Amino acid sequence: MMLLAHKIELRPTASQAEYLDRACGSRRHAFNQLLAHFSQKDVKWSKKAANERYKALRIEFPWYAEVSQRVTRNTVDDLHNAFTHFFRRLKKGETSGYPTFKKRGLNDRFSLREKPKFDVEGRTLRIEKLKTKIKMREKLRFSGTPCQVTISKRAGKYFASLLVDTQDYDPKHQEEESVGVDFGIKDLAVGSNGKTFAANQKLKLSLELLARKQRRLSRKTKGSNRCAKAKQAVAKLHYRISNQRLAVLHEVSDYLTSRFKVITIEDLNVKGMTTNHKLARAVSDAGFGMLRQFIEYKAELRGCTVVVADRWLPSTKECSYCGFKNNEVVLGVEWWVCPVCKTLHNRDFNASVNLDNYGRDTLQLDPKPYTRVASDIPRCAAVLTV
Ligand SMILES: [Zn+2]
Repeated sequence: MMLLAHKIELRPTASQAEYLDRACGSRRHAFNQLLAHFSQKDVKWSKKAANERYKALRIEFPWYAEVSQRVTRNTVDDLHNAFTHFFRRLKKGETSGYPTFKKRGLNDRFSLREKPKFDVEGRTLRIEKLKTKIKMREKLRFSGTPCQVTISKRAGKYFASLLVDTQDYDPKHQEEESVGVDFGIKDLAVGSNGKTFAANQKLKLSLELLARKQRRLSRKTKGSNRCAKAKQAVAKLHYRISNQRLAVLHEVSDYLTSRFKVITIEDLNVKGMTTNHKLARAVSDAGFGMLRQFIEYKAELRGCTVVVADRWLPSTKECSYCGFKNNEVVLGVEWWVCPVCKTLHNRDFNASVNLDNYGRDTLQLDPKPYTRVASDIPRCAAVLTV
């Protein structure tokens, strides 16, 4: 069984949002009631006792029944996990980690872990006891059976984290044999087939906006109404940014793994790269580490091979046509002509071809004939000739 998670923003109507809020509230109430009970002196935690206590709570608070009963019932499992965690730490001599009471507005969430209690259909989500279906911002990325949904609320938005059993995942059959991918700052990724993924401009704008909003926030008086408003604006923007970033990374990794049998990427030493201050921001913004993770797990799902090239491979300096190593190609050189064979190279594209060749070599595939693609033709005049 392979489980994959996908978090999707929900677009509930006002009355649906009210239901979700009520469910979050019931869950929080039940959890806190249970925790208060088992935090008393002389009351020992056990799952059996918790189930008994829960039955009593359901009678005491009949409004639990207004939402799916599983919303409150699952708090027994949640608290069981929290206590197990705490006892494990206690054994090791740590005293922290005692379960804490849930606060309104913090960790507003509830889970449904039973298949008949919810359903995903296209871009809609059905939940028990809610008559209408909730719209989702996108459909599930994986095919398979959803086996758990956790609905959470943050910064005024609602999200569904769906856990999907992908046993029946149907791997795509990649049509093309291999590709090399060069990661960069100007373009996020350049493939040896000529496909280029530009760095996300929207993301860049959002990051600039974030810096401005954070400055504004720092000038507000703490605890004031305006401060709270500015805080929420920052939180909202943080969300947008992480979504924008993820969207691009998924796009690139989906493209590669659904199209190519062999994918060769660089072993980016992201830690080493981030020590250079100016590069640092751009590197962490691009999320290379995450991109590599995405490519690797999707490759496993879809049955393709990922080759990670040696960090010291001179992929940018080497002429992909004749193999001459040109040490003049330094950071900032976009176009260059090989002094030996006179081939004109685009720095990133040439690197991606070298990576592809490296991967094919490693797997002992036949060498590919050298072909020029559209993006390998200069768009600007600055060409380095030696
Ligand atoms: Zn050459």
